[in-house]
Amino acid sequence: MQAAADMRQVAVLGATGSIGTSALDVIARHPQRMRASVLAAGSQVDALLALCIAHRPDHAVISDPAGHARLRDGLAAAGLHTEAHAGNEALEALVAGPACDTVVAAIVGAAGLGSTLAAARAGKRLLLANKESLVLAGELVMAAARASGADIVPIDSEHSAVFQCMRSCRAEEVRRIVLTASGGPFRGRDRASLAEVTPAQAVAHPKWSMGPKISVDSATLMNKGLEVIEAHHLFGLPASRIGVLVHPQSLVHALVEYVDGSTLAQLGLPDMRTALAVGLGWPERIESGVGGLDLLTQGRLEFEAPDTDAFPCLRLAGEAMEAGGTAPAVLNAANEEAVSAFLQGRIGFLGIPALVEEALAALPAAPAGSLDALLEADAAARRLTRQRIESGAPA
Ligand code: NAD
Ligand code: MG
Repeated sequence: MQAAADMRQVAVLGATGSIGTSALDVIARHPQRMRASVLAAGSQVDALLALCIAHRPDHAVISDPAGHARLRDGLAAAGLHTEAHAGNEALEALVAGPACDTVVAAIVGAAGLGSTLAAARAGKRLLLANKESLVLAGELVMAAARASGADIVPIDSEHSAVFQCMRSCRAEEVRRIVLTASGGPFRGRDRASLAEVTPAQAVAHPKWSMGPKISVDSATLMNKGLEVIEAHHLFGLPASRIGVLVHPQSLVHALVEYVDGSTLAQLGLPDMRTALAVGLGWPERIESGVGGLDLLTQGRLEFEAPDTDAFPCLRLAGEAMEAGGTAPAVLNAANEEAVSAFLQGRIGFLGIPALVEEALAALPAAPAGSLDALLEADAAARRLTRQRIESGAPA
């Protein structure tokens, strides 16, 4: 048995979500080598309490301060020594401090930026699922990690695939990478037929079980657009060397092509516990609970080009990346607001790309020299998009 000092101390941010649940599943399979030392969630006190009872962390953090007293009293009533905290400042201090050496950043949306940056600055091993923080402030996150020596391991199936393939070569030997996309629940449909689709249809992803926001992003293909920007920051490649291929079976997660014409692909069942095990165990391979891939029973592997007429979000993300500066922050913020309004039934599905396009046109890219400039662009895009939604356009 390993000594306690060798135990990996893992902070799981977004513990009550889809990635958080998968992370805790993998951690619980390795009680000799890792434990969840910090658990954090947005506002679901009861779900967080249940996780604390199961995993007995040292600290529990609820972002919404209104939940603090109930969290504290619930922990005491359960006889736990887990300390209760509330608010983002407390979360960032815990992430940066001695309570953890590894951070699973799985908060959804730009709300995850502060804790992602805190982990990167503090030199933690950063298992980064919160792709929105890279879209919003990729240069700052990557520079902070370089300065502190933080290792970033992507927790996104495509980027984990690239990360794994890249271990076989030096960065300058890569010609290009290709991210695959399932195509989402509306693959093959034309634009006009998407006007009436419902939130329930949009979140019913054919291959992956995920939180509501990323499920809608997968349906619009914005997810793939965010992922191209994410890959640009993680792997230092220009857009011209990052391809996207629709692959409905979601078994090939990405391909890396080398200067000699060789291509490596990473394959596996669509289950995020594999990527999490890569991040938690790296450079060792550890058990994840995910079964192997039997290609005979899976049948055919198909590939097709993405349809950017029906799904303009992929094109809009490419344009924002090309424009650079504050444009990706505007894209991300407008998208978050639009997706939230769509999930609440306030706008239609086609309203999502329409609102993002309007925000990008109304708020032209400015230099993104500082975190403040990016947060201002984020706030301006949210204000504009909310006003457009409240004024009833686009329906
Ligand atoms: P989810 O909606 O299932 O969970 C989100 C978590 O974030 C919850 O624990 C929630 O309490 C917490 N949260 C929400 N708002 C918060 C706030 N303001 N402050 C603090 N915590 C907050 O989402 P998910 O599907 O687990 O996705 C999480 C992140 O991982 C997203 O950035 C997503 O793009 C990325 N990701 C997810 C998957 C997947 O398979 N689910 C795959 C790749 C990447
Ligand atoms: Mg992905």
